Amino acid sequence: MSRIRQQNVTAAQWSSNGESLGALDLTMPENAAFGANVFDEEVQRERLPADVYEKLQATLAGGEALDSSLADAVAEAMMEWALERGATHYTHMFQPLTGSTAEKHDSFFEPAGDGKLIAGFSGKDLIQGEPDASSFPTGGVRATFEARGYTAWDPTSPAFILENPNGTLLAIPTAFASWTGEALDAKIPLLRSMDALSRTAVKALRLLGDEATERVYTTVGPEQEYFLIDEQYFFERPDLISTGRTLFGAKPPKGHELDDHYFGSIPERVLAFMMESELEMRKLGIPVKTRHNEVAPAQYEIAPIFESSNVGSDHQQLLMQTLENVARRYGLVCLLHEKPFAGVNGSGKHNNWSMATDSGTNLLNPGDTPQDNIHFLFFCTAVIQAVNKHQGLLRASVANIGQDHRLGANEAPPAIISIFLGAELEKVFEAISTGEGDPNTPASFLDLGSSVLPPLPLDGGDRNRTSPFAFTGNKFEFRALGSSMSLAFPNTVLNTIAAEAIDDLAGKLKAKLDAGQEMPEAVIEIVKDSYLANKVVCFSGDGYSEEWHQEAERRGLKNLKTTPDALPEVVADSTVKAFEEYSVLSKRELESRYDVWVEQYAMRANIEAEETFSIGQTMILPAGLRQLALISDAGVSALEGEIRELVDDLVGTLGELKAANAVPAGLEGMELAEYARDNQLASMGAVREVGDKLERVVADDLWPLPKYEEMLFIK
Ligand code: ADP
Ligand code: MG
Repeated sequence: MSRIRQQNVTAAQWSSNGESLGALDLTMPENAAFGANVFDEEVQRERLPADVYEKLQATLAGGEALDSSLADAVAEAMMEWALERGATHYTHMFQPLTGSTAEKHDSFFEPAGDGKLIAGFSGKDLIQGEPDASSFPTGGVRATFEARGYTAWDPTSPAFILENPNGTLLAIPTAFASWTGEALDAKIPLLRSMDALSRTAVKALRLLGDEATERVYTTVGPEQEYFLIDEQYFFERPDLISTGRTLFGAKPPKGHELDDHYFGSIPERVLAFMMESELEMRKLGIPVKTRHNEVAPAQYEIAPIFESSNVGSDHQQLLMQTLENVARRYGLVCLLHEKPFAGVNGSGKHNNWSMATDSGTNLLNPGDTPQDNIHFLFFCTAVIQAVNKHQGLLRASVANIGQDHRLGANEAPPAIISIFLGAELEKVFEAISTGEGDPNTPASFLDLGSSVLPPLPLDGGDRNRTSPFAFTGNKFEFRALGSSMSLAFPNTVLNTIAAEAIDDLAGKLKAKLDAGQEMPEAVIEIVKDSYLANKVVCFSGDGYSEEWHQEAERRGLKNLKTTPDALPEVVADSTVKAFEEYSVLSKRELESRYDVWVEQYAMRANIEAEETFSIGQTMILPAGLRQLALISDAGVSALEGEIRELVDDLVGTLGELKAANAVPAGLEGMELAEYARDNQLASMGAVREVGDKLERVVADDLWPLPKYEEMLFIK
């Protein structure tokens, strides 16, 4: 079938799917959808026996495991609540090492013996499931014959109802482990890392004179970028279907250079989609806040308000699913790939991260009092130390094959991890480390000898878009995540390395205090020493520039360009030491992740390479041949040379790709990943280059794939 422009007219049409979402009076509490589908604290208070409710809340506040005697009562209430909302089934939703979520549905109903069905859901059903784990990646932690895996209820992330046009489902967030207790998922290490951070931060707070805080939480507020294209184009492109990105496609005459998309007015169909997605998310208790057009045409962003790391990470998985599901109701497809269109801005995810006490004090918020500022400086210094020590691991925590097209290009942070502190904060640290205050800045320390510190008037609006890790007023923003990623591992890493650094600084503080040194001088000395030792990682200039790459090399910072370069950091000695010391992941659990991620890279590269060959051979080559025939028919020999040369080049490069795709037997693990990168991906690039040249010269109606111009601009 030849492609004709009429198809674009069809694609551009849509019928509004709105069910008057905006017609409710939102001043009426009963019309507020927020959390309507969540078994949250309010529902628990209403429905659980008072003593069970109290005990459950106490358990949650203390971060301890739940007494199994409570589980029956909770399960009973949960089932009643779910049945009232039409749920016939429940699922333990977990996050295996595939990076997405997994679910197996079980009905509440069982035969009662008299030919009827009876609904039942026990505490045991709630607390533990036993899915067959053999089909999930384990990186060798569990041999296939030990197929049993366990899912364990995570009471800190509330259960919720998932709606479908034909019914509903009770979803229970769970952890997933092998029968030997090793974590096979993304949630367990995240929870363990939150515990580790809490333990060390509370210890430090005690030394800093805080007697009240019992628990410290880490918080995460993500900003998610994504593309929306008409589903007609999506289903016309085998590359988008099987790899999530376009493997061919010439750059259109118009890209984002006119800057007319960013923050532009949102097209009606897209806004309708956003509104319905947000309604769904509000029902699920996801506190979505901000929406806007992003830089690239057809690119958008959504940002929820921050939550505790665990809940925020679960919500992020739901958010991505919701975007994908709701898009289809509007004839759109949501692309979460990091680089769906070559030459066009890719999609990332910002990970705003902080630490807060159980009474709600943000530990990275410079305060109005000297005491607050001392706390702030202590914890901020710990983060700088952690990031410098584990730069490579942070880079590895955001590594995937899609990211390799994005990081380091002129649109996303470089693959070099550095910290942007902002001018004000940098002055504070410089003043402390040199012992000389700059009298021109109110933010610097005028009199380090006295125990009085001035307030730090830090400007939260300070921005440097080119930095991968920036202090933004009261939190750090880790900007290098890819758009398709789970938040779980990057936050596990942040929490663990921060816990290690806080512990280290707390040890030093204790020694000084024991030796009779006074506060705040003891803290100031620690801040000074640590900052001087780690300031190489701080950089406030242009992270995109070539000078920075050279400067970073001089400073000895790591520049891990591709996923195979970065992943060994997951099993580096410094990683194993920190993760084992704080009981986040054992060496074996880290190795299993390394194995899984290396394998995923090689598999995805292989799929891309085979898809490139298939499209090149069966779609693009025939288009080139038809064009040649057209020219011969017309007898215009002047046109023939260019096409013939391109077709010859295509045949040649396809031959090389075919050879690269014949992967030598016996390669596995990192060798296979490196082979894929250096041979398959490299040959794909050559095929694409010729294919994209052909796209510009072959007759439009003979071109077999929707073009960038159509996918990105027809809305
Ligand atoms: P901006 O300064 O860009 O206007 P905000 O300060 O409102 O933005 O926050 C930007 C993002 O940072 C939001 O996703 C928000 O939820 C998140 N955020 C704000 N405070 C915190 C925090 N303490 N911990 C984690 N994320 C936070
Ligand atoms: Mg943004």
